[in-house]
Amino acid sequence: MAAMAAALRGPAGCFRWQTRALAGGVRGAAAGQRDYDLLVIGGGSGGLACAKEAAQLGSKVAVVDYVDPSPRGTRWGLGGTCVNVGCIPKKLMHQAALLGGLIRDARHYGWEVAQPVPHDWRKMAEAVQNHVKSLNWGHRVQLQDRKVKYFNIKASFVNEHTVCGVAKGGKETLLSADHIVIATGGRPRYPTHIEGALEYGITSDDIFWLKESPGKTLVVGASYVALECAGFLTGIGLDTTVLMRSIPLRGFDQQMSSLVTEHMESHGTRFLRGCILSHVRRLSDGQLQVTWEDQASGKEDTGAFDTVLWAIGRVPQTRSLNLEKAGVDTNPDSQKILVDAREATSVPHIYAIGDVAEGRPELTPTAIMAGKLLAQRLFGGSSDLMDYDNVPTTVFTPLEYGCVGLSEEEAVARHGQEHVEMVCLREPPQLVLGLHFLGPNAGEVTQGFALGIKCRASYAQVMRTVGIHPTCSEEVVKVRISKRSGLDPTVTGC
Ligand code: FAD
Ligand code: NDP
Repeated sequence: MAAMAAALRGPAGCFRWQTRALAGGVRGAAAGQRDYDLLVIGGGSGGLACAKEAAQLGSKVAVVDYVDPSPRGTRWGLGGTCVNVGCIPKKLMHQAALLGGLIRDARHYGWEVAQPVPHDWRKMAEAVQNHVKSLNWGHRVQLQDRKVKYFNIKASFVNEHTVCGVAKGGKETLLSADHIVIATGGRPRYPTHIEGALEYGITSDDIFWLKESPGKTLVVGASYVALECAGFLTGIGLDTTVLMRSIPLRGFDQQMSSLVTEHMESHGTRFLRGCILSHVRRLSDGQLQVTWEDQASGKEDTGAFDTVLWAIGRVPQTRSLNLEKAGVDTNPDSQKILVDAREATSVPHIYAIGDVAEGRPELTPTAIMAGKLLAQRLFGGSSDLMDYDNVPTTVFTPLEYGCVGLSEEEAVARHGQEHVEMVCLREPPQLVLGLHFLGPNAGEVTQGFALGIKCRASYAQVMRTVGIHPTCSEEVVKVRISKRSGLDPTVTGC
């Protein structure tokens, strides 16, 4: 408790740092006189992993992390998106929804469970939020244990070796370092041009921290965040609609994506396809009246909802970093930081990892691995680079979708239709180009097969792998019917 209170009050001795850095002039302190070997901006997946690894390798490290409240005022602690408003609360709510399905199924297995089984949002949210808070605390302790100095301040560059951090109360701290890693992640995008969007809508930054049930919900968007949220909201019994303007899960295998949304639809999620939302207004009974246009017919339609959840992508957190003061280049369209294979920016001793870096998958394990490898190159004499190819991922929709490697569309575009069969090359040794799995525990299944793909497994090797029976994973090593054969792949026996 004492450590927590001290951190909330702000770092002791901040004026000393300020004086030293100012004395160093505009270009900051000279090498050897800087405060830290490594300064990490952003205490999320990538930043914390990098800082901890660097400290373990004996360097003097500081992490600065600061969370601007969401437009709805939601706040959270150390750990970044994944821990607070991403993977962890999402997976727990997904699990809550799956449990509902299991309880309903249980009676067919002889369990005498009274139906219907009501769900209490308050209880779920409290448990999820308490778990997240315990993770916040765990991260603080881990930093302390590894002697990483933590500052709860919002950082921006003063020059290429110096950063100014502003605490909640306005107090400023100047920190200098030989190496600086930017790992500031992203935040949900709001459609600022739509009337009522900001005023009445919420995002994934809020949904997991709601004390009360969101009620009847309209989810706008059709990618990971939208479909995962719509999936668990439906699963816990809420009336849920997804408004999508184009296709589901852009970038993923489209046949699999359609199966995901068809399954959701058959389990109660409504889909408004090819629609563009035009405005959100508050009705006198407190509900939100949403108006959209069906692009195909040109017709306008409306619906009343308790909650509108924007899940239309994310904006990298680069704007307030004063990157121009350090000379760090960004892509003007995406606002992401341009990096090379070593994660270095346009300034050789400043690096960017995770969601804020251009061209990287927005996934926790890639941010973590990139951060660790970077620390090992900087302080451990390593030259190992992060390999961003064949990164596995899973969409935690009610019917989970795990994949690694290329989608069928990408495989065909790269290798040509005539060279591809079952997302494998047709020519021996029939290299597997991509693996796509729909079913329970897709993350667990895909994680295992990802090793095979990384080791350049061939179709023949997958077929020679003995299955574990009875499992869902064994279906992967039994895939013998390709689309080209025209045969019916329906499984009729075991
Ligand atoms: P972040 O974790 O976002 O951390 C950045 C930190 O820097 C934040 O704390 C931020 O407040 C802070 N910061 C920003 N600017 C400043 C500043 N100027 N000064 C100080 N601090 C600053 N990925 C998966 O792999 N699996 C999943 O199941 C999954 N589910 C997700 C579900 C949702 C709803 C969302 C939104 C994302 C999900 N992701 C998932 C993606 C994953 O959360 C991110 O890829 C990951 O958190 C990125 O880590 P990061 O270190 O780049 O940034
Ligand atoms: P994405 O950028 O992946 O998708 C944005 C979605 O919003 C698309 O469906 C897009 O449609 C739609 N959209 C964009 N603008 C509008 C608009 N103005 N009106 C209506 N729809 C719009 O964003 P997400 O926030 O879903 O995910 C961000 C990243 O977070 C992902 O790429 C993923 O890496 C990570 N993540 C990972 C998860 C996991 O590992 N399970 C879970 C959640 C997130 P269109 O296709 O037409 O452009």
